Amino acid sequence: MPNHYRSLSESVNAAITVLKSAKSVCILTGAGISAESGIPTFRDKQTGLWENYSAEQLANIAAFKRDPNLVWQWYQMRRDMIRDKEPNPAHHALATWQDSAAALNQSITLVSQNVDNLHEQAGSTVQKLHGSIWHNHCIDCETPYLEDTTGKDELLNCPVCDGLIRPSVVWFGESLPDTPWLAADHAARHCDVFMSIGTSSLVYPAAGLATLAKQTSGTTVIEINPNPTESDMVDIQICEKAGMVLPSIINELLAV
Ligand code: NAD
Ligand code: ZN
Repeated sequence: MPNHYRSLSESVNAAITVLKSAKSVCILTGAGISAESGIPTFRDKQTGLWENYSAEQLANIAAFKRDPNLVWQWYQMRRDMIRDKEPNPAHHALATWQDSAAALNQSITLVSQNVDNLHEQAGSTVQKLHGSIWHNHCIDCETPYLEDTTGKDELLNCPVCDGLIRPSVVWFGESLPDTPWLAADHAARHCDVFMSIGTSSLVYPAAGLATLAKQTSGTTVIEINPNPTESDMVDIQICEKAGMVLPSIINELLAV
């Protein structure tokens, strides 16, 4: 049932209505929810030294194998960029909602593709599908590398097997960690509302969660994105920045 509502306030009101009666909500967030904290998404054009590379070209295992130096330096640059960023009103609103879930008699599962720590910093419990940019491990023996890598622009080697140290993020072409993926899959199959916030819905398997929700339980799908995706799964499209609309939506839910 493609969209839908004639104005932003109509779609926001429709979302509030379905969310008020929902028992189980699955929320999937992507890079867009952190955009208002100043962290560029993967669709934003890169600048400076990196303007000739797309993020997709760098965030993949083949690129690391071909030119580990380049990929490591790109991640060090992204870490420098993310380090001082803080959660924005969208992250805070979701954390407040999760805090009140028991009182509202709702089950809320927050699933994120983001590798920053902003949901956790805001106080949320989150199923992280794509790992964390703040962790590293050995590409060969997978031993975690626990030393601080701030300012280390040269490649590092594993103290156990001498393999190269890589960021513990899930790259394009790699499989997702089991525990968060199973939690996300379960939440999508059992929710009555699925919210997709700040994701281009192009990166699978995360992008398939809305379809799974729709096909297994006839879930209502709400999307919050200033540039709506083409997904025909979406019932209620909220064409606005997450930080602009989520706080007032969550306030309404908590006001009952
Ligand atoms: P994406 O970069 O493909 O898409 C971002 C989406 O967010 C776009 O559709 C854009 O229109 C939307 N958007 C931009 N500003 C917004 C706002 N203020 N409110 C709501 N939506 C907004 O991101 P993706 O779908 O998450 O997939 C790309 C991959 O990139 C993911 O695997 C993720 O791990 C990784 N990534 C993570 C971060 C991070 O951790 N902050 C940043 C960049 C990329
Ligand atoms: Zn090793």
